[in-house]
Amino acid sequence: PHQARIIDGRATAAKVRAKVARQVAVLAARHGVTPGLAVILVGEDPASEVYVRNKGKQTREAGMRSFETRLPASTTQAELLAHVARLNADAAVHGILVQLPLPRQIDERAIIDALAPQKDVDGFSLINTGLLAARGSGMIPCTPLGCLLLLKEYLGDLGGQRALVVGRSNLVGKPMMQLLLREHCTVTVAHSRTRDLAEECRRADILIAAIGKPKMIKGDWIRPGATVIDVGINRISEASSEGSRERLVGDVDFDAAVGVAGAITPVPGGVGPMTIACLLKNTVTAACAQNGIDPASLSV
Ligand code: NDP
Repeated sequence: PHQARIIDGRATAAKVRAKVARQVAVLAARHGVTPGLAVILVGEDPASEVYVRNKGKQTREAGMRSFETRLPASTTQAELLAHVARLNADAAVHGILVQLPLPRQIDERAIIDALAPQKDVDGFSLINTGLLAARGSGMIPCTPLGCLLLLKEYLGDLGGQRALVVGRSNLVGKPMMQLLLREHCTVTVAHSRTRDLAEECRRADILIAAIGKPKMIKGDWIRPGATVIDVGINRISEASSEGSRERLVGDVDFDAAVGVAGAITPVPGGVGPMTIACLLKNTVTAACAQNGIDPASLSV
């Protein structure tokens, strides 16, 4: 029976991190610059705690400086804005990431738009959103950038391919659409009001699922030979011989899709590891821009 190639996000992410580490070493040796990433965590969301810990660990492993700020859940918007302003002014900090979601009393948009655009390594601020849409440049959001790197690694040139992005969020779907357009794909974006999602999927050479609904995309929706990138991370509980257990699944029914697709990302081990790797990559890009260094000159 047919079996899709498995797109190994862990291996590709390791390559991206290794390249980042080499660039960081060159930055220090030739320019005396050590890239610094500041992460702000407000409150005690357990999932956010895990992300922040992983980000700090991988930042240090790449030879960069990691600054972590933990603020109580009761932090006011003015207090958080003051903190962002301090980091914006700190020359040792090249990238700033505010871990989302923020507590209810804080307006997320106001915080994100207060980040200095050249330090906004998540690429969510209005300036970076506009730069991507109008010029295909600026700081690119980490998850869509990770998806693009996987596609290029496995497919090479994407020009002329028919791509479908399911999901239109500002964090994933919309920037993904912009990136695919920049790569000369013919792009369709689907969402909760799309009339016949199965039919849209069947036309796609490249299918990106960023929905947040476990196993929603069925095997027979996938065009034979298509490349499938599953962004979804859904925690489900499943019955097993030892009772019920928790498991992570994507937005695509992997077991069915693997028999139809040409290549597919697993969950976990697909897009997830690429996201943090791209955060490190963006931090190097930011450090270079803030010091007038061409990142291409760092390749060794
Ligand atoms: P959002 O909830 O912000 O967006 C979901 C999108 O899916 C919306 O555009 C929504 O449409 C669309 N949608 C919902 N239901 C349907 C449906 N039945 N048919 C078609 N479209 C539908 O989620 P995010 O974009 O932030 O994240 C998407 C998924 O990716 C989540 O599972 C999240 O956990 C995961 N994720 C993974 C990351 C990683 O590192 N791997 C990073 C970020 C997210 P509408 O706009 O009409 O409501």
